[in-house]
Amino acid sequence: MKPKIWLSSPHMGGTEQNYVQEAFDTNWIAPLGPNVTGFENDLENYLNNDKHVACLSSGTAAIHLALLQLGVKRDDEVICQTFTFCGSANPITYLGAKPIFVDSEEQTWNMCPNYLEEAIKDRIAKGKTPKAIIIVHLYGMPSQIDQLLEVANKYKISIIEDAAEALGSTYKGKKCGTFGAYSILSFNGNKIITTSGGGALVCNTEQEKKQTIFFATQARDNAPHYEHTKIGYNYRMSNISAGIGRGQMEVLDKHINLRRANNQFYNDLFKDVKGIEVQQQPTQDYYSNFWLSCILIHDDAPFTKAQFQAAMDAENIETRPLWKPMHLQPVFKGLPYYGSNVSETLFNKGVCLPSGSNLTKNELDRIKNVVNSLLAKG
Ligand SMILES: *Cc1c(COP(=O)(O)O)cnc(C)c1O
Repeated sequence: MKPKIWLSSPHMGGTEQNYVQEAFDTNWIAPLGPNVTGFENDLENYLNNDKHVACLSSGTAAIHLALLQLGVKRDDEVICQTFTFCGSANPITYLGAKPIFVDSEEQTWNMCPNYLEEAIKDRIAKGKTPKAIIIVHLYGMPSQIDQLLEVANKYKISIIEDAAEALGSTYKGKKCGTFGAYSILSFNGNKIITTSGGGALVCNTEQEKKQTIFFATQARDNAPHYEHTKIGYNYRMSNISAGIGRGQMEVLDKHINLRRANNQFYNDLFKDVKGIEVQQQPTQDYYSNFWLSCILIHDDAPFTKAQFQAAMDAENIETRPLWKPMHLQPVFKGLPYYGSNVSETLFNKGVCLPSGSNLTKNELDRIKNVVNSLLAKG
């Protein structure tokens, strides 16, 4: 069996172990410490927008604390992009609130501003104004942010920006992760940079960052003993993980360029193949980190999605269908949904391709060979 080619695997830059070693040398093996502060500073400088970053144990935890701080409570309604990973939607239920799912548009595959407004109007008509809106930049592609913010502002509803897949992507030159009332990042093992597991909440004020850290460290009041007036969580990032993050920040832009080069490779590979559509940035306003390169396999393509995935699988090359929309997930069955079948069609036709920044020339050749032999079969 040939070695596995992964969709997206961790790619260390080389200096990560120095930061981890420093943590060992100084015995900072804890969910706080100089690497955590250092990583937060690195992220604040990178986002470059006067933001305040709190590093946490995961992106999912960051969404939970964003919802909590926006005052989401039991039986509230929260709008969420349906076309996403479950980490965007699950935290709504942690608070006993109810997810309301909204479909995507075809340009960026992210939340459709028109369906969003339709959903808000209908929820208000039914008696409840949604408490928050969770938008996502899926696969690194920025959503139609201006239009989404316009709708959200019109109804005075806060946006939580799920930028878990979009660190380094920009919209009109401004970094994803800086548009929300709160924005979240993820450093899970398969993301554009990794801390083995981790996330961050991007806040607009230092006070919000302090409050986030308060909730992430069991909500300890200021007292000599352990005093609690609120329920807290154990969500802080460890100093070891943050050390990996500091090293990863040194290679982030380099790795984005490598992922974008992979995307160019796929554009070239499928250029003359009828019925295969590589996801594109709609205009120059959208700059994607191309965390994952994705294709749609239309009915007039020379091979079906099943044939394509089977051929790749036979060569030990990982591919994956696009995210299955949340409103089609058994666990969210029966919850309100606004849209048509845009995300459903994307799910049915779409495939994610190997996209790691560490793909070698040899691995790209193996991928190319599978595609060429499928085309030769016609
Ligand atoms: C990875 C991911 C998350 C959750 O991040 P974790 O760090 O794995 O908890 C949330 N939303 C999206 C879109 C993601 O891809």
